[in-house]
Amino acid sequence: MKISLVIPDVNACPTERPRCCRYCKEPYLHSHGTLKKPVRDHKLKEVIVRRYKCLSCKRTFRHYPAGITNKDQSRRTVVLATLMYGLGLSCSAASHLLGALGAELSKITVWRDAQEAGEALRRKRPAGKVRILGADETIFKVRGREVAVGFVVDGASGRTLGFEVLFEGDGEAFKEWLKPYAEELGAEVLVTDDNDSYGVAAAELGLWHQLCIAHVRKYVKRRSKSILEQAEGEWGEKAEKKYEKLEEDLKRLRGLLEELPQEGEKQIGRMHREYLWAQPPRRKEEEGAKTKEKASAGYRMRMLTLELWQKWPKIRLHLRHPELGLDGTNNASERAIGKSKVRYKTMRGYKSDEGMSNGVVLTQWLYSGEDEHDLLAEVMAA
Ligand SMILES: [Zn+2]
Repeated sequence: MKISLVIPDVNACPTERPRCCRYCKEPYLHSHGTLKKPVRDHKLKEVIVRRYKCLSCKRTFRHYPAGITNKDQSRRTVVLATLMYGLGLSCSAASHLLGALGAELSKITVWRDAQEAGEALRRKRPAGKVRILGADETIFKVRGREVAVGFVVDGASGRTLGFEVLFEGDGEAFKEWLKPYAEELGAEVLVTDDNDSYGVAAAELGLWHQLCIAHVRKYVKRRSKSILEQAEGEWGEKAEKKYEKLEEDLKRLRGLLEELPQEGEKQIGRMHREYLWAQPPRRKEEEGAKTKEKASAGYRMRMLTLELWQKWPKIRLHLRHPELGLDGTNNASERAIGKSKVRYKTMRGYKSDEGMSNGVVLTQWLYSGEDEHDLLAEVMAA
């Protein structure tokens, strides 16, 4: 277990004008003065708040810097208070600790913040069942370091259910990552790209597994091209017939992936057997060092057909089980990741500490709304 933390940034003054009126959403606003607002925060004592007047509805409103709301305490103070409470500190101990850090907060406010955060999370928590989980990973650069972040979405609605920093990419790690989602939400299907670690996780968690057909098609197209190029070099002009057959087979393979017919599995199996003549690369010893020969074009075709033969049921799960309501792609996850890139800066505060391995440990951060600063902590008792 580990802690993943994102502490909301708090700015001393607003960096942007509001895009529209808070009340009527019209875009035409006039500046209407600024004021200083004292805040309870361990780094800032006060912030600048700008006021705007809407030209359409004539109402005025305050525009706060990032991390500041109409509360006395900053969002990061709210998060720290909630976190301390979630970690098992009493309200008065949390209040005392925050005071020592320079953010005076009464114990009743600690209690209220923790209750509100819990309430907000319960509201935001995916209610009830999520049948289809979409999962995908992406790499973010956080303070110059590459960090792999896994995303889980509701495959039906596209809603982000959560994300987590992944320290390892094997099947076991993926299983641990996806387990709480699968169990708490009662998921039945996992939709992913063809990374084999997902296959392991899905099998261990007892989930149906749909491979994203768009990924598989792209992958096979790429492999086809490379296998053909290699065959051309290896076989030369003497093996024209053999080359033509390979070209024809690869074309048929791609055609099967377009149409996804039920009998595709048999056809690919048959095709696979026609390449059993191709031998695996031999190990060889060269100047005392053991190396492996490069796989031949024929052998690569043998392996490609084997892989697709085995994965065929996962490639057309959406057709075999229309009742699951799958579209056969993992587009929902990719869209969620696309959106998150825009929000990437909210991850700057990320910290991890694997040393804290007991007790209440998994904190996970979920968006509480559309605003990019709207992050809330989820503190789960282990
Ligand atoms: Zn207005």
